[in-house]
Amino acid sequence: MIVIFLGAPGSGKGTQAEQLAKHLNVPFISTGNMLREQVSQSSVLGLKAKSFMEEGGLVPDRDVISMIKERVTQKDCIRGFVLDGFPRNSIQSKALDKAMIEINREVNKVVYLEVPKEVVIERISFRRVCRRCKANFHLKYAPPRLENKCDACGSELYQRTDDTTETITKRYAIYLEQTQSLKDYYQDRLIAIDGNRRKEEIGQSISEKLKVTAR
Ligand code: ADP
Ligand code: ZN
Repeated sequence: MIVIFLGAPGSGKGTQAEQLAKHLNVPFISTGNMLREQVSQSSVLGLKAKSFMEEGGLVPDRDVISMIKERVTQKDCIRGFVLDGFPRNSIQSKALDKAMIEINREVNKVVYLEVPKEVVIERISFRRVCRRCKANFHLKYAPPRLENKCDACGSELYQRTDDTTETITKRYAIYLEQTQSLKDYYQDRLIAIDGNRRKEEIGQSISEKLKVTAR
């Protein structure tokens, strides 16, 4: 099964997509994580992507598209995969369609997480991420047990450089302008989910609607 997650920054796509991928036993592919990895390695792509990301803009389509094409055609994606953060505009969705046709596959389901703007802004401003395992925490609603340490692996938590108030507003505007309309593009396979709930409840609705029994 090939599943895409759509939603505003901070809508919880990453968390839910990763959970679902685990249950389906297919790779979880996050363009944000892949790009951050490139930045931390100072690769050619990373050096180029860094400024776009820090400003809250999109990394050029060409670069992201070739990165994703290379990833989804790897062997481990043969049984499917879950995408988080891609596609983010109509050029990317068309490129993905084309890539899927080439390998004789199609996007099966698109999960759209609906969360009000005030809620995503609040979630992102208090977000902290584990440097090692990328687990997310919320300083107010889901704080780590020990200050600044990941509950899962004990590594240090940090605030993403693009999680500043100014940048969040810009990312949200780009989402409204370029990404949100993809829900119309995928309307025939769209699953709309209320993302303004506890993450366990959201995960359960997603599984029910996708009819994934093993949780
Ligand atoms: P969020 O969904 O919270 O904005 P992500 O981790 O998905 O966070 O993405 C972080 C940044 O990485 C984006 O603001 C953008 O600069 C870049 N990025 C991620 N995915 C894409 C994409 N498909 N196209 C262009 N840029 C992307
Ligand atoms: Zn961790």
